Amino acid sequence: MNPLKSIALNISIPLLISLVFALMAYNQAKIPNVVFNFVPYLFYAISALIIWVSWHFNRNRFIFVILPLVFIHAGFEYLSAKKATDLFLYASALYPLHLLLFLSLRERGLFSIWGILKILFFLFEIGVISYFVLYPNGDLILLLKMKLFAVSFFPLHDISIAIAIFVLFIMGALVLFNRYLLYNCSFLVITVTFYAGFYFIRTAHANELSLLAIGIIIFILLIRESYRLAFYDELTSLPGRRALVEDMAKLGMKYSLAMLDIDHFKKFNDTYGHDTGDEVLKMVASRLANVSGGGKAYRYGGEEFVLLFPSKEVDESYTHTDILRDTIAKSPFSIRNKKSIKTIYINISSGIVQKNSNDKDPFAVMKRADNALYKAKKAGRNQVVKA
Ligand code: GH3
Ligand code: MG
Ligand code: MG
Repeated sequence: MNPLKSIALNISIPLLISLVFALMAYNQAKIPNVVFNFVPYLFYAISALIIWVSWHFNRNRFIFVILPLVFIHAGFEYLSAKKATDLFLYASALYPLHLLLFLSLRERGLFSIWGILKILFFLFEIGVISYFVLYPNGDLILLLKMKLFAVSFFPLHDISIAIAIFVLFIMGALVLFNRYLLYNCSFLVITVTFYAGFYFIRTAHANELSLLAIGIIIFILLIRESYRLAFYDELTSLPGRRALVEDMAKLGMKYSLAMLDIDHFKKFNDTYGHDTGDEVLKMVASRLANVSGGGKAYRYGGEEFVLLFPSKEVDESYTHTDILRDTIAKSPFSIRNKKSIKTIYINISSGIVQKNSNDKDPFAVMKRADNALYKAKKAGRNQVVKA
């Protein structure tokens, strides 16, 4: 998919949630006050839900993202004004760094060695902040309130602004380079929402609304992540067979389908090893993902892929499939070993069909495409055969 389109797709949902809550905070006078009474309870409820679901899906990162916000929320609610102001100062400087750290750490079991180290580090963070909130340290506060810029963003202090710029710069770069967009787009919006809530802390309910918005963004991210786990292939990031079956059920009467298979891949694995074979699969998948003509690529299984062309005639789909076959055949693949770098080329064969009235179900279409693929192999490989 086009990189800009992927970014737009991934950032739109969190952005929309954040904007809705910003509008609520801005238009408070027009909203019955009772609505705002529920905000803290909703925030605690969604936090509990996030912790529970993250635990079950082994997506523990989200527990470490939401728990500090629960502590911050409770701190603002129950601490004295002076202590809450200190908490504000520490949280505004530390939370975004915490976010960046836990975003970059790999997902592990909570009770593996790494998981336990994460828990210990988190307890350490909470301990240190609690200590400085309860026993204020003048020097530290002075340091965090140090002036850096000519303009003021009060109540945020310059150090927090510098940290915000740093964190947003890194997250923005990750988004622009299309790295793990599902997460990075959401985390970018979460960071902005967090700072907006803190900046408008003196506006009634603004901070609570921002925290609730973050909770909802994380919850939706969790749902989308479980969807990705169920429907997308881990190695190639292409949608998998389950997604193909779902999509085919949604198709109309007219579509074409291409079955693709890498040529002599068993031999390739035997010669260069399974890990290099996996790299080839990723390379082929990344080419197929860029299919033109409204097609969509799936990893059917092993080294077999499917291209689906909704509402397309077979002739047009043939052209787009053959372009891909040719692109892949001309893509050099470098194999490094200790002494040298060797360049090799990979070929694929494909069979392509258009659905007709005799096909009882999508599997009948696939079967015919598979037969055409068999013919392509028989006829010498590195070609697309139309049935
Ligand atoms: P043909 O040209 O007739 O397709 O020959 P082929 O050797 O490619 O034959 P076939 O399609 O039967 O081979 C499938 C091979 O693909 C077997 C297996 O070693 C390899 N393979 C399947 N899945 C994976 C995978 O996930 N990673 C790697 N590295 N290899 C895989
Ligand atoms: Mg095969
Ligand atoms: Mg093969």
